[in-house]
Amino acid sequence: MSYSMKVLEDTKAKNPGQPEFHQTLTEILPTLQPYLDEHRECEKAGILERLVEPERQIIFRVPWVDDSGAVHVNRGYRVQFNSAIGPYKGGLRFHPSVTLSTIKFLGFEQIFKNSLTGLPIGGGKGGSDFDPKGKSDREVMGFCQSFMNELYRHIGADTDVPAGDIGVGAREIGYMYGQYKRLTGLVDGTYTGKSLCYGGSLARKEATGYGLVYFAEQILSSLKTTFQGKRVLVSGAGNVAIYAAEKATQLGAKVLTVSDSSGYVLDPDGIDLETVKLIKEKQRGRISEYVKHRKGAEYFDKGSVWQVPCDVALPCATQNELNEDDAKVLIKNNCLAVAEGSNMSTTLEAVELLHKSGVIYAPGKASNAGGVAVSALEMAQNSGRLFWPFEEVDKKLQGIMQNIYKQVSETAEHYATKNDLVAGANIGGFVKVCEVMMLQGII
Ligand code: NDP
Repeated sequence: MSYSMKVLEDTKAKNPGQPEFHQTLTEILPTLQPYLDEHRECEKAGILERLVEPERQIIFRVPWVDDSGAVHVNRGYRVQFNSAIGPYKGGLRFHPSVTLSTIKFLGFEQIFKNSLTGLPIGGGKGGSDFDPKGKSDREVMGFCQSFMNELYRHIGADTDVPAGDIGVGAREIGYMYGQYKRLTGLVDGTYTGKSLCYGGSLARKEATGYGLVYFAEQILSSLKTTFQGKRVLVSGAGNVAIYAAEKATQLGAKVLTVSDSSGYVLDPDGIDLETVKLIKEKQRGRISEYVKHRKGAEYFDKGSVWQVPCDVALPCATQNELNEDDAKVLIKNNCLAVAEGSNMSTTLEAVELLHKSGVIYAPGKASNAGGVAVSALEMAQNSGRLFWPFEEVDKKLQGIMQNIYKQVSETAEHYATKNDLVAGANIGGFVKVCEVMMLQGII
């Protein structure tokens, strides 16, 4: 049995009941074998055994009181996975589906993603099974403050810098950073995705979605085409989805869909983003309301966006939202590329099918790395007490996404096959972390 397969089997056995973590290990570890074959010293140094074991896992109680006076208890997590190349960096997810398995899968992916950006950031992730949906601002504030009462002692500008993810946007980050400041007395920029008026970076809000489209633009360019006139499907209607749709539209594509966990909207004239922003960013409403604003648009509470014929698919909601059956429909409809905005959007079976059928598939750890890259730029601005213009950050983001594509596609060509962007992203992200772990000794 190869080194990577042995570590895969051992790690799965050692971490039972963690299906999402097993899925990401199964996707990543075997693809590293060609590099490990060339670099036997990795096995001797136990690189993989150390990589799959988080440096630290923090699990804590988060009690809070709702508006009626009832007491609730949620569970908080922070998994500090790997700090070889820099402080732990990765978002916090607040969603009822969050478990240790979810956080470990996201944290493990984050190690590779952060390395691909070329910036000095290690991998971490956190969150809670708290559901901010339908809660009052006071309840969300109470939860965030209680969450920080524990988390503050584990984070800091040079140790661990959290950010947003599903269910954590500017409002939640404001409440958490406020409490962090109160408890530590530090105004040190720990947390990215902050509002602009207290240390946030221009273009951070747009970064993941815009970055995804910049990455997909490179894929289309390799196929000698562009976004102009393309039919694009976007799933989700949150931060990543909105700004992916915005950039694709700016580049001349027609975005046909958006969705939330209740259903999806198809607008044959192209999704009107001002309407989506109004419903989702201002009113915190449901996407079904879209059809009240736009004639010709339809709302479906069954099925998925992937049934709509398209040229490019951009999943931007959550993990495993695109399965084998969805992949079959995309292939039948001659879709050119699937680029992930959400993390691990696509099931392992669907990835295999897309790859076999010649649909170019970009894994999130490469294609959605723009968010964390601009977070690292926010950290740089905070420590230098600087504030860069939008165009400057956006230009850096474009450069970073182009570099990631180049690195991933060249690595794919060297170690696997052209367009095997999974192998390219995994090996590309692994190399730097591995080299640094070798240099820093057995820790
Ligand atoms: P948001 O909370 O802003 O939006 C999430 C969207 O996805 C909402 O429309 C939500 O619908 C939908 N959604 C969430 N869970 C489910 C589900 N189980 N089934 C169907 N729809 C669902 O999150 P983000 O846009 O920030 O994150 C989206 C994805 O992008 C996540 O996978 C995240 O890890 C990834 N990502 C985010 C980055 C960022 O910078 N924000 C960076 C890199 C990756 P509803 O409102 O009904 O729940």
